[in-house]
Amino acid sequence: MRASDLLHPRPEGLYCPPGDFFIDPVRPVNRALVTHGHSDHARSGHRSVLATRQTLDIMALRYGEGFAGATQAAGLGEAIALNDVTVTFHPAGHVLGSAQIAVEHQGMRIVASGDYKRQKDATCLPFEPVTCDVFITEATFGLPVFRHPPDTEEIARLLKSTVQFPERAHLVGAYALGKAQRVMRLLRDAGYDKPIHIHGALAKLSGYYQGQGIDLGTLEPATIETGGRQDFAGAIVVGPPSAFADRWARRFPDPISCFASGWMRIRRRAKQGGVELPLIISDHSDWDELTATIKETGAGEIWVTHGREEALVRWCELEGIAARPLHLVGYEDEGD
Ligand SMILES: [Zn+2]
Ligand SMILES: [Zn+2]
Repeated sequence: MRASDLLHPRPEGLYCPPGDFFIDPVRPVNRALVTHGHSDHARSGHRSVLATRQTLDIMALRYGEGFAGATQAAGLGEAIALNDVTVTFHPAGHVLGSAQIAVEHQGMRIVASGDYKRQKDATCLPFEPVTCDVFITEATFGLPVFRHPPDTEEIARLLKSTVQFPERAHLVGAYALGKAQRVMRLLRDAGYDKPIHIHGALAKLSGYYQGQGIDLGTLEPATIETGGRQDFAGAIVVGPPSAFADRWARRFPDPISCFASGWMRIRRRAKQGGVELPLIISDHSDWDELTATIKETGAGEIWVTHGREEALVRWCELEGIAARPLHLVGYEDEGD
């Protein structure tokens, strides 16, 4: 059989005909396999969802308990039969609960990795390379210019700034699922032991992380009502990037706007967004991680999705690896 008979794009998402399921469908389907809880991959309204326990929990937190007709939790490494196709979930190192999905049929194995990174992250299990015939990779940062520095260096710059400007609040924009908790955990690992103030939009997910044994220390709501503006002098406040455009951000004393994202590598982008202190912290692989991972899987064929597809496809060709863009639509990178 050809690989494209086992998995191919349809308007709803990546479809497996022999198994009759979709991976990360963007429209409601009968059976969805979901790699992780970011809103562009995990949508509500499917008849049934198969995902890791943590991804199912995160979907319930975000969409409510009735987000799907039925759910099934996939244990990591557990072989699950869907018709005569076998699927297994393996850690992707992207956010809590994130998994790659290996799809096997008649001796062929395709791995749909969803979003992934290789940098160490104390808030989720590390990426596990799975050998396969076809590896489906994201390419969010699929250009050689993207090289993420160590996250510890970026957090050190944030802490240095809080020492330099003790009278100013540091507002850190970070995506609500994954990035925000990673930033908080990095602060703790760097020895920061004061309470971290969080926007209300982060409360449920951060509480869930804590409940899963990921220690984020003392978190306090970033509300002014209880005290004066000066309570936030020198404080670190974490909120979703969207909150920084509204009145919420203007309550804080002379705030320094920080943003944790892989896109902060592009200075122009930081400047346009009014970001004073860009922090290059990404939950996606950079160029070196992408190319190293492709080699590690031993795959003879690479399918490239959301991002800079052409550059990575070209790199594969130069390495003698067959590659093509998948042209999946509807993925916006909630957690870059
Ligand atoms: Zn994601
Ligand atoms: Zn994605």
